[in-house]
Amino acid sequence: MTAFPVGLHQPIEHPGPLPANADVVIIGAGVIGVMTAYYLAEKGLRAVVVEKGRVAGEQSSRNWGWIRQMGRDPSELPIMVEASDLWKQLAAETNEDLGLVECGLTYLAQDQAGLARFQAWLDGVAGSGVDSRMLNAQETRALLPGCQMSIVGGMHTASDMRAEPWVAVPAMARMAARKGAVIVENCAARVLDVQAGRVAGLWTENGYIKAPEIVVAGGAWSSLFLRRHGISIPQLSVRSTAMATGPLPEVYAGGASDDDLAFRRRVDGGYTLAPSESHEFWIGPDAFRHFRTYLPQLRMAPFGRRYRLNAPKGYPDAWGIARTWGKDDESPFERMRVLDPAPNATRLTETRQRFARAYPGLGAVKEQASWAGMIDVMPDEVPVVDRAASLPGLSICTGMSGHGFGIGPGFGRIMADLVTGGDLGHDLHRFRLSRFTDGSRLNHGPHA
Ligand SMILES: Cc1cc2nc3c(=O)[nH]c(=O)nc-3n(C[C@H](O)[C@H](O)[C@H](O)COP(=O)(O)OP(=O)(O)OC[C@H]3O[C@@H](n4cnc5c(N)ncnc54)[C@H](O)[C@@H]3O)c2cc1C
Repeated sequence: MTAFPVGLHQPIEHPGPLPANADVVIIGAGVIGVMTAYYLAEKGLRAVVVEKGRVAGEQSSRNWGWIRQMGRDPSELPIMVEASDLWKQLAAETNEDLGLVECGLTYLAQDQAGLARFQAWLDGVAGSGVDSRMLNAQETRALLPGCQMSIVGGMHTASDMRAEPWVAVPAMARMAARKGAVIVENCAARVLDVQAGRVAGLWTENGYIKAPEIVVAGGAWSSLFLRRHGISIPQLSVRSTAMATGPLPEVYAGGASDDDLAFRRRVDGGYTLAPSESHEFWIGPDAFRHFRTYLPQLRMAPFGRRYRLNAPKGYPDAWGIARTWGKDDESPFERMRVLDPAPNATRLTETRQRFARAYPGLGAVKEQASWAGMIDVMPDEVPVVDRAASLPGLSICTGMSGHGFGIGPGFGRIMADLVTGGDLGHDLHRFRLSRFTDGSRLNHGPHA
């Protein structure tokens, strides 16, 4: 298995060269960009993905690997149901192992308020056909034998799945390439070429590519890129820490989490562990710019985040990062090929200890690897998936708010149809770009 997560230690697998022309250029080779390219190539279009670092170098290889319908916003749920089917099709089509297992995922409630939150979500998606169900304390204990966590019940979705992010997304990129997409690593997108009021191409650090359509799928960097072109999205990012244990006996084949601890079985016999609700936020200029938009979220979960000043140099919203640059200038994107935050050492110790206490039968829990990722978040915790009305030829798919890995194939398929005028199959109104400016009240996604 690839050393996790993906980083600059990974040799370049897609060196290019950058073609002179494309039907669609996609900025960013995370799960969203790669899957968009896959479905565009499947339609016979010339899709080119430019990636400033490595395929899946950022969030897409750093996540927990949960492919989850449970707890989704009602507007995302049908897309996630489609994405679950697409995951299975992709796993069947490729000759590589994505680590996809239909294992079930479980939310654990520490108190009655937690149970009430799960029930409220379940009531809100009644009739969706998703097999999520409430568990009482006894049923939860039967599902997680040997677990010593303090649990009053839970919610379980048997059809939810897991996969190995650092294996799956690079494999999906190879699948896209086999369909004819061109992926170019170490190739930062710098500036859009706009002619006669519409997109005409893209300037990259490796030169120019002519294309009538560009998709921004830049994860935590999307806001910085878009703002350079006069498009503001209230996207911020938070640090989330995770770790991998070495191989241990199987206590639960799926993934489970309460408010403090999340764990997931991996195919290599270890577990991926994380502090579930703990995120750290560096306050930068965008935090002030978008403060009012985030107020409802801050009121809802004031302690879910820890606040810090002065993001490390070169981070997307760091004080002092360049906000404007020209096509011939080195951009902030190539200066930070892979955003690779240091994990929080205190959170790692707590997490390891919590898992050891949850399963005392496992004995010592040793850390095999640890890492962190910057999760790109939106004020209502659902992404922007839209065409930019102010700039024909530009589409945006970003702000996955901590749950883009599972739904990635779904939004990739949708983006391919959005760009080509195909049948979207879903109502994207919830994900429109104008929701932050059209005076509508922001509707916060579920906190199940
Ligand atoms: C710790 C952690 C746990 C998570 N757990 C889960 C989970 O269990 N399940 C789930 O569904 N989701 C999870 N997520 C969220 C999920 O990983 C993300 O939502 C998803 O990977 C986002 O995909 P993306 O393609 O939008 O962005 P990314 O994967 O971040 O990819 C964006 C890419 O764009 C590139 N890029 C940016 N700007 C430019 C530019 N100008 N030029 C060229 N390239 C550029 C970047 O280098 C990057 O590779 C988790 C995330 C983290 C960090």
